[in-house]
Amino acid sequence: MKKIVVGNWKMNPSSLKEAENLFEKIVKLMPRLKNTEVVVCPPVLFIEELEEISKKIKIGAQNVSSEKEGSYTGEVSAKMLKNMRVKHVIVGHSERRKIGETDIDVNRKIKATLSSSLVPVLCIGEEVRDEDNKYFDFIKTQLRDSLENISKSDITKIIVAYEPVWAIGTGASAATATEFFEMGIFIKKVLSDKFGLKVVSKIRIIYGGSVDEKNAEEFIKIGKADGFLIGRASLNAEKFSKIIKTCEVSNR
Ligand code: PEP
Repeated sequence: MKKIVVGNWKMNPSSLKEAENLFEKIVKLMPRLKNTEVVVCPPVLFIEELEEISKKIKIGAQNVSSEKEGSYTGEVSAKMLKNMRVKHVIVGHSERRKIGETDIDVNRKIKATLSSSLVPVLCIGEEVRDEDNKYFDFIKTQLRDSLENISKSDITKIIVAYEPVWAIGTGASAATATEFFEMGIFIKKVLSDKFGLKVVSKIRIIYGGSVDEKNAEEFIKIGKADGFLIGRASLNAEKFSKIIKTCEVSNR
């Protein structure tokens, strides 16, 4: 299975010119890839221009509407993204959950995404790690509710991004590779209870939260991550391309 590196640019940069420059720089610094897929999720209004620059990087979206079409001001549908040749969609990012997105919304968005043949990158993650280990129950509920009524054939199309909220963003520190390894096993167990063991080996489980060019290798080697979802470091072409290289080399 190929590793995958997904860059989430969030609400950056503030102009198309800057977006093109960053994208071109990443393309230039990227190694030749055989074993790794790279996806960049820019703000939606830069998607089409960036697609023209290179086919080496797939373009994803940071969010999608759960509705098909109609009177939903400010929303972008899965079909629109599909028509823009988008392949991947981040669903349930903690920054969207923070402004009210629930597991039910996430579930509807996953269904909308799959019905337009897009790949959902489902974000899950606890806000805090309590001493009684209740965060495992939290993750189990998030996974089960987000994946309610998803078929066995569709579940293999989904990428699960474990992103502990406490490890994301400025001032935070990454989880340890061992913490991710343990959570990866737990996620696989929850998925295999729901969808069967055979299916689970086809689902990529990636890590997100303060990944950089220094810690990426241990998440792959010790944590057994199938790739990364990257915020800040995806806005730095040097760092992002080094992380891509780490994934590519580790898969040889
Ligand atoms: C994220 O927001 O999904 C993320 C992983 O951010 P960062 O890499 O900046 O912690």
